[in-house]
Amino acid sequence: MNEGDGDMWMTEDRGWIEVISGSMFSGKTEELIRRIRRAEIARLQVDTFKPALDNRYDDTRIVSHSSISIPAEVVSTAAEIRSRVRPGTRVVGIDEAQFFDDELPAVCDALADEGRRVIVAGLDQDYRGEPFGPMPAILAIAEQVTKSLAICVLCGHPSHRTDRLTEGFDVIEVGAADKYRALCRRCFAEKRARLLAPAAF
Ligand SMILES: [Zn+2]
Repeated sequence: MNEGDGDMWMTEDRGWIEVISGSMFSGKTEELIRRIRRAEIARLQVDTFKPALDNRYDDTRIVSHSSISIPAEVVSTAAEIRSRVRPGTRVVGIDEAQFFDDELPAVCDALADEGRRVIVAGLDQDYRGEPFGPMPAILAIAEQVTKSLAICVLCGHPSHRTDRLTEGFDVIEVGAADKYRALCRRCFAEKRARLLAPAAF
């Protein structure tokens, strides 16, 4: 992670968009929380949001896999973020951005144009390895992008793909986080190849 991300913004006193993206288990939410906390230490007014459908662990907080958390407003649409940001807010945090509608890039742009720092965290790819929701557009318009890597659970290589265990051979039905795992490019490709291959009888 680049320690200087937020500090660069603060000295310039301009709006901008920064994105923290990557697979599940890559520490995106931890990094979002770290940046939000630093802004709060700097006594900047912060508003943080998450989509209504993400109700894991705790409804009105953003909670990382390692159980650190910050308060967040739950909203249903990107337009709702726009309307709920308070006038004096300097920093806007958005978690699980992949689940928002296609209006999110325009909302982020408008908030940054107003001079706010917008910090967006989200999955860049779904479990098929396809670009996820509004994330591609946000990655394109952002000033600064951090790609977080997880560790492949099969081979230990840095990984950027999220595999869904319930698809294919490995059926595990526990909590949401237990239905997915991080895989590297090679292990992900091997899993997909097995999945798409004709069944051998
Ligand atoms: Zn691997």
